[in-house]
Amino acid sequence: MSSVYKASLTAATIKAKARELGADLVGIAAGAALNENPPNRANPRRPMDITEFDADRVIVLAKRASSGATRLSAWNDRHKLYNDELVLSQLEEASLDLVYWLEDLGYPALIVPVHHVDPTRYQGGPERHDANLLSADHAAVEAGLGTLGLNQQLLTPEFGPRVHLSVVMTSLEVEVDRRMETALCPGPSCGRCLKSCPGDTVRHWDRDWVACDRFRSPFGFHHLSDYMISVVREDDKDKQIMMLRSRESADLFASVLRGGGIITGCRRCGEVCPVGDDYERSLKQWVDEIPEVTPEKQQRLESMVTAEENGDRPAVYAEQARWIGRLD
Ligand code: SF4
Ligand code: SF4
Repeated sequence: MSSVYKASLTAATIKAKARELGADLVGIAAGAALNENPPNRANPRRPMDITEFDADRVIVLAKRASSGATRLSAWNDRHKLYNDELVLSQLEEASLDLVYWLEDLGYPALIVPVHHVDPTRYQGGPERHDANLLSADHAAVEAGLGTLGLNQQLLTPEFGPRVHLSVVMTSLEVEVDRRMETALCPGPSCGRCLKSCPGDTVRHWDRDWVACDRFRSPFGFHHLSDYMISVVREDDKDKQIMMLRSRESADLFASVLRGGGIITGCRRCGEVCPVGDDYERSLKQWVDEIPEVTPEKQQRLESMVTAEENGDRPAVYAEQARWIGRLD
């Protein structure tokens, strides 16, 4: 009778390997914690929905965004979209190498495409927010990497929100990391994410996800389909040809070619966030000023601060408190 070979592995060994492969941060969450606590109970997207085979452990890898790209203040700077796409590509390669390494040691594993939406649930409308297969930000909190901020972006102590994430699932009985209990984000008393947001989509412990999607994925499927429809509807053939040769077409082509502008996009809220060791050390000099702030945004923030002082937090805070953390 033959038995399946399985090497002895520890959480520390897995994390050391992931770092050796290029990850800056690594955490391990219990799949059960994510199965039992889906971020949205009305639309649960849990490890067990992806596969029962590998749902025991969720390994979250993080790679920091480059500071050079962060200095570029325009939210849609093409260089920034491209540089972020390269970070994601490297993270994907690191994840794949980790999968093969685990497999050679007797533990098959699976990479979850956390930047993709579930095509089987696509509803065909630009007015909807299509959620990812698994929320990498929530998985990262369960894996002890950080907490969610005012607009539900992941904040890490090392790099604030300036990280890209990848998720590897495997069934392996190793120690899991502890979730942080205390919020890294002070809330509206900071509010720099709200002040900087080009789409003004930041809400009180929430964001307008549909509006944000237009910035986070400016050349994504919604934009591509809208543009193609406008080309098809143009009766003037010469205008139609010009539309196909336009700057917008070129942007869409470049985005489809590399993914920059589709799986990468606006991260202005992350650039200005003061959480993270890297902020004071290097970033502050470039992003301290927030030119996007308006009197309306300022006024809305002040209302939120007053609400917080009166203990009046929105319902969404209670729903997300597990991942936002305790506010002192
Ligand atoms: S990603 Fe951009 S649009 Fe979305 S909340 Fe952040 S700053 Fe606003
Ligand atoms: S910018 Fe300020 S309010 Fe926004 S997530 Fe970061 S710490 Fe929180």
